[in-house]
Amino acid sequence: MTLVGDEVHLPYERPGLSKGYLLGATKAGELDVLDPGFYADQDITLALGARAADLALDARRVRTASGAAFAFSRMLIATGARSNRLAVPGAVLVGVHYLRDREDSDRLGAALRAANDVVVIGAGWLGSELAAASHTLGQPHHRAQQRTPRALAAPRPESGEDSFGDMRTAGSAPAHQGELEIERRPR
Ligand SMILES: Cc1cc2nc3c(=O)[nH]c(=O)nc-3n(C[C@H](O)[C@H](O)[C@H](O)COP(=O)(O)OP(=O)(O)OC[C@H]3O[C@@H](n4cnc5c(N)ncnc54)[C@H](O)[C@@H]3O)c2cc1C
Repeated sequence: MTLVGDEVHLPYERPGLSKGYLLGATKAGELDVLDPGFYADQDITLALGARAADLALDARRVRTASGAAFAFSRMLIATGARSNRLAVPGAVLVGVHYLRDREDSDRLGAALRAANDVVVIGAGWLGSELAAASHTLGQPHHRAQQRTPRALAAPRPESGEDSFGDMRTAGSAPAHQGELEIERRPR
């Protein structure tokens, strides 16, 4: 079996990226799904840092962006999800972060530690966890901006935001993408 993945790391768990790893309490190796030796023991070849770019079903072959080819008799596509990128003015400014992978968490952790204030856009689970992490890192001035009228409305439609009481929504009305604008604030 060959495991083709475009990230350079051994397969790792993402939950820590918005919690222990972000806060510095969990080391990178502790995120690993399996011991490094497991793959060799099970005769699994790891092709890491390799993006699958071409799939030839007739020839039963996957080719990566760098040109490596892997033949298969069976194949599983498990390419997961991506962060939902904001298409609003200012979204590409320095200081705007997304969170999906380890590198994102490294950058975000450093930015949170150096930040004067923090705005979280998206008050679902990850947004709520990031607000909590930001608070733990000593950034009391954070605000959450969301499309729904309250935090965690999508995953917990029937419950209140009591356990996230220190998250304040910015403005009284829920925001939609077109209503958002990100501006660089002079330091
Ligand atoms: C910060 C964070 C915290 C989370 N916390 C929790 C939690 O507490 N509890 C919980 O239940 N869930 C949590 N989740 C969600 C959970 O991590 C996801 O549900 C899970 O990662 C989905 O696993 P997956 O294997 O389907 O996809 P992914 O983990 O996204 O893995 C897919 C992999 O495929 C790679 N890939 C994509 N395209 C290609 C390509 N063309 N070629 C090669 N490789 C490719 C991607 O880079 C990625 O490494 C969290 C997610 C994040 C981002």
